Amino acid sequence: MSEFDAGFAELDALGLRRRRRVVDSPCAPELVVDGRPVLAFCSNDYLGLANDPALVAAAQEGARLYGVGSGASPLINGHMTPHAALERRLAEFTGMERALLFSTGYMANLGIVPALAGREDAIFCDRLNHASLIDAARLSRAELNIYPHLDLAALERELASSKARRKLVITESVFSMDGDLAPLSDLLVLAERHGAWLLVDDAHGFGLLGPQGRGAAAHFGLASLRLIYMGTLGKAAGAAGAFVAATQNAIEWILQKARTYIFSTGEPALIAHTLLKSIDLIEQGNERRRHLAGLNALLHSSIKFKRWQLLPSETAIHPLLIGENAETMDVASRLFARGIWVPGIRPPTVPAGTARLRITLSAAHTEAHVARLAETLMELE
Ligand SMILES: *Cc1c(COP(=O)(O)O)cnc(C)c1O
Repeated sequence: MSEFDAGFAELDALGLRRRRRVVDSPCAPELVVDGRPVLAFCSNDYLGLANDPALVAAAQEGARLYGVGSGASPLINGHMTPHAALERRLAEFTGMERALLFSTGYMANLGIVPALAGREDAIFCDRLNHASLIDAARLSRAELNIYPHLDLAALERELASSKARRKLVITESVFSMDGDLAPLSDLLVLAERHGAWLLVDDAHGFGLLGPQGRGAAAHFGLASLRLIYMGTLGKAAGAAGAFVAATQNAIEWILQKARTYIFSTGEPALIAHTLLKSIDLIEQGNERRRHLAGLNALLHSSIKFKRWQLLPSETAIHPLLIGENAETMDVASRLFARGIWVPGIRPPTVPAGTARLRITLSAAHTEAHVARLAETLMELE
C-alpha cells in the first residue's frame, strides 16, 4: 500500500482520475494516437499554425543562428536579439507601449500578479478565471475577492467598499471553458472609476480577435494607463510562451519584480525567432480567421440535441454540456473509440454538475471534419 492509494481510490470513485495519451504526430486535426488515426477537436492551435511549414522553417533557422538553449535567466545572458525583437513586435502589434516575454502563460500570470499586488492590496477575480490566475492571486498574499462570473454590479460593490492601497481586477477575455467574451470596455470603465488596474488574460483571444488578430484590447479599442494585457503564444500563435504588455513604467516594474521572470531560464531564442514569423502569419491571417468563423457557424447549424446542450459561443471554443462526470467521460471514450477526440472536462476545472465536452475548432479543420463530428455526436446522444 502506498500512502497515495486512498487518494487514487477517491479520484477513481469520483470519476476524476486523469490519464494521458501519447500522440505520435505533429499537432493537427488528424493525429496518430497509439498507432491509429484520430480526428482531434482538442487543441488550442486555433489558426492551425503549430505545424505550419513556414514556422518549422523559422524554428530550424532560429536553431542554426542561436542554438537551442538560452543558458540563463533573461536578466543574466538569456535575453537575446530575437527576444528583444519579439517584445518590440508584440508591443507594436497589440498597440501597447512595451511588452515583456515569459516562457509560458502560467509563469506569466504567476509573475505578473504578485508583482502588482501584495499584502496591503486587493484582487478582484472572476469566478471562472483560469487556475493560473487564481493561483497567482493566492501567491500574491493580497486580499482575494471572487465575484460571480461577469457580474459587474457585484464587482462594483466590492471595488467601492475596498480600502486597499492598490486594487487589481483580473479577467479572461475569452473564458477558456465556456468560450464567452468578457465586456472589457465596461470592466475598464469600472476599474478606472475606482482607481484599479485591469489585467486581461487574452490566452484565447490573441491571434483571433480584433483587426488582423491583434487581440482583445484592439477588438474593444481599449486604451488606458491602467490596462495590463497578457497574451499567450502557445495557442493561436502555434509555438510556446507568453507576454505581458502595458505602459513603459508598468512593464519596467514587472521586469524588476516578477519572480517567474527573474528566476527562470529564458525561453529558447529559436522559439522567439519562430514567433516573429508567427506574428506575421497572424497579421496576414484574415483568410484563416474567416474559414474558422465559417466552421464555428457550421457546427452550430448542423447539430440538434435532445438532452445535451451545445452552449452558444462567439469563439472557437464550443462547450457541449452533459452534466454528470461519469456520463461525460463515457461519451468521450465512445467518441474516441470511433476515432474522434474531444476532451471531457470535469470539476474542478469547471463547476460541479457542469461536466462537458470541450470542442475546439481550428482553421486547419475542414467542413467535412466538422460534419463528421456533428453526425457522430448525434448518433451517440
Ligand atoms: C492556457 C492558459 C494559460 C496558460 O498559458 P500556457 O502558455 O499554456 O502556460 C493562462 N491563462 C489562460 C486563460 C489559459 O487558457
